[in-house]
Amino acid sequence: MRHENTEHDQTTTTDTDLTVGTSLAFHSPAFTDTGVPADTTTKADHVAPLVDDQDGWELVAPEPVGPGDLLTVHDLEYVDALISGDPLWLAQSNGIGWDERLLTAVLASTGGVLAAVVRSLEHGETTASLSSGLHHARPGSGEGYCTVNGLAIAVRAALELGATRVLVLDLDAHCGGGTVDCLDGVRGFEQVDVSVNSFDHYASTSTTELVVSTPEDYLEDVERALGRIDRPGSIDVVIYNAGMDPHEDAGGLPGITTATIERREQLVFDWAAAAGVPVAFTLAGGYRTSRLDLDGVAELHLLTFLAASRAAGRRVG
Ligand SMILES: [Zn+2]
Repeated sequence: MRHENTEHDQTTTTDTDLTVGTSLAFHSPAFTDTGVPADTTTKADHVAPLVDDQDGWELVAPEPVGPGDLLTVHDLEYVDALISGDPLWLAQSNGIGWDERLLTAVLASTGGVLAAVVRSLEHGETTASLSSGLHHARPGSGEGYCTVNGLAIAVRAALELGATRVLVLDLDAHCGGGTVDCLDGVRGFEQVDVSVNSFDHYASTSTTELVVSTPEDYLEDVERALGRIDRPGSIDVVIYNAGMDPHEDAGGLPGITTATIERREQLVFDWAAAAGVPVAFTLAGGYRTSRLDLDGVAELHLLTFLAASRAAGRRVG
């Protein structure tokens, strides 16, 4: 909970205390009311109670964005199709389907990513959104279960607010080619992407780096990629697409275990803390399999929150 000091109450919590004490996680039931259920969105309702149980995290409902906000990265024809369902092939190009409720859910979940990034940027705090980053969505269509690219929309918003360097750190199992496509040539956008599956791959440039790794090299590749980031202290905000789908039981590869993911999250938040850069993270891939139900997937996502808490100096029990 956020308090302001007043003349009458000099002992209430200050912003400095809050950095250690409380982080905001944006979530609303509206995120998951898509009318076309899929693990990518539905799992947020399983993650929310786990986060709510953690000391130091507070769930907050964000303001939804408006349809016009989608136009900062998406084409008018695609946004119109999401609104009307016409043409249907375009409206359901996410590969999941279209429903009259889909747009409202997408506006709510995009609002979550945006609220987290703006909060991190303006207050220098770690934040989260229980919406997924949806990194495969392209300017003119959905793709790979992604309807609207919340990462790209948030990058645009951060730059509009005065940020000069916004890094998308994408550790989903799959490559984030949609985000690169949405932000092609946008000054101030950078992406570091360590994947284990070449789906949605793209060519690295001076501002985007893609590594397609293996279970044997995964942690080393993540550590090296972070280590190669030039002058990290000058990054205004990191948007971390924290995918759990590299995990062997959540859609990934044998050998990437819970311990691997735990260590990965520690590497990310230790790196960010050392650089003094705030992180706004989102859920990303991570799916039900014969070995893991959605509660199990949610437990994996909780690892990101726990690592963020440890980096903020909070005790994690
Ligand atoms: Zn993925």
